[in-house]
Amino acid sequence: MIIIDTESCTGCEKCVKVCPVDALYMEEGVAKLKEELCISCSACVTACPVDAIEPELKAQRADFSEYSGVWVFAEQHEGELKATGPQLLGKGRELADELGEKLCAVLLGHDITDLADELAAYGAEKVYVVDDKALQEYTTEAYTTALTTLISRYKPSVFIYGATHLGRDLAPSVAGHIGLGLTADCTGLSIKEIEGQKVLQQTRPAFGGNVMADIVCPNTRPQMATVRPHVMEPMEPESSKNYEIIEEKVKIDPDSITTEILEVLEADERGVLSVEEADRIVSGGRGVGNCQEDFELLRELAEELNAAVGCSRPIVEEDIMPKCHQVGQSGKTVSPDLYIVCGVSGAVQHRVGIRGAKTIIAINKNSDAPIFDMADFGVVGDLKKILPLLIEKIREKKEN
Ligand SMILES: Cc1cc2nc3c(=O)[nH]c(=O)nc-3n(C[C@H](O)[C@H](O)[C@H](O)COP(=O)(O)OP(=O)(O)OC[C@H]3O[C@@H](n4cnc5c(N)ncnc54)[C@H](O)[C@@H]3O)c2cc1C
Repeated sequence: MIIIDTESCTGCEKCVKVCPVDALYMEEGVAKLKEELCISCSACVTACPVDAIEPELKAQRADFSEYSGVWVFAEQHEGELKATGPQLLGKGRELADELGEKLCAVLLGHDITDLADELAAYGAEKVYVVDDKALQEYTTEAYTTALTTLISRYKPSVFIYGATHLGRDLAPSVAGHIGLGLTADCTGLSIKEIEGQKVLQQTRPAFGGNVMADIVCPNTRPQMATVRPHVMEPMEPESSKNYEIIEEKVKIDPDSITTEILEVLEADERGVLSVEEADRIVSGGRGVGNCQEDFELLRELAEELNAAVGCSRPIVEEDIMPKCHQVGQSGKTVSPDLYIVCGVSGAVQHRVGIRGAKTIIAINKNSDAPIFDMADFGVVGDLKKILPLLIEKIREKKEN
């Protein structure tokens, strides 16, 4: 929003001309604002030759003393917690300790209250639960209503979400409804002191991963971020009786829900496991080939192992696989139990994405390929000869 000093306005209309959303108009020789259209782009502030327009820094003057608590959105599906909740609680513990605030989890769904114990085991001191039939299946509208209501009732200072498919939809919707900033897809979170105020510093790759940007939102609360799955470590779970459950009722207007769920398809029913959630990944790079057919061997191996298929960036750039399969700095961060990596050289941008993998088996014809520095097991040779043998051995083992 902006503030117009009508006394100083000379009626030159420059602001009206530059406004991209027609939020300004002239009345009795001075500029006037249609508040509902203003997007706070400040084009008019720059264009005004007499400094009669200023950005309204309402939020800067706000008192945040009522805001407290580091909240983690604990995503669940059909009564099972997704990995991001515990991972974010691990980081949330550090943030809450530095801020001297409570670590809280937020659980939405139906018949899910039992999951609060699990969240407490991963460090939550309070668990806010909204158990409602309208939240059984995810819809943007119902989940947004539940979270915006909780935020206005309890005023957390920080609220973090996993950058999962759901989190990437929900967090911007909540931010938009309350008028907050949101940093998407963070890879790091820390606390920084700015002008005597402890704020959340949110780090994320920018410009295609060429620089890391540190972002702060000192003027709004809660400070909100989505965080890439698997970049934060959960704490070792410890059973805890020492936590508080706050069960809340939220009014969800069924007419506000504009989506109808017709059918829920599980990822593996479509034959496409997500690399972020898979326990096993078979990944391929330029050494596998340069067309869809070349990747058939890799897919066959993945199918035998019930594994997801991952790839290096050139494979996405060459349109062989969609971006959601890309592993690495500008792709997904993964932490499977088993990562079989074929025909990938092991550039640092690929390796940063697989640091969380428990066992790495690399197949590469070049014994000096950097991927071997990181692999637990290495096979030097032509993958076109090795993969069929491996598939055959696995099939044999399954039959016996
Ligand atoms: C800002 C930025 C972000 C990036 N982000 C990512 C990212 O997220 N993920 C990513 O992967 N890359 C990323 N990259 C690209 C990265 O730097 C490398 O270029 C890329 O990982 C190389 O892909 P590759 O290993 O498939 O190909 P290459 O480097 O070409 O390696 C191919 C390998 O296959 C082996 N090979 C060839 N034929 C065979 C065979 N028949 N059998 C066995 N082995 C064989 C070769 O010995 C070689 O080691 C990024 C780069 C930049 C600049």
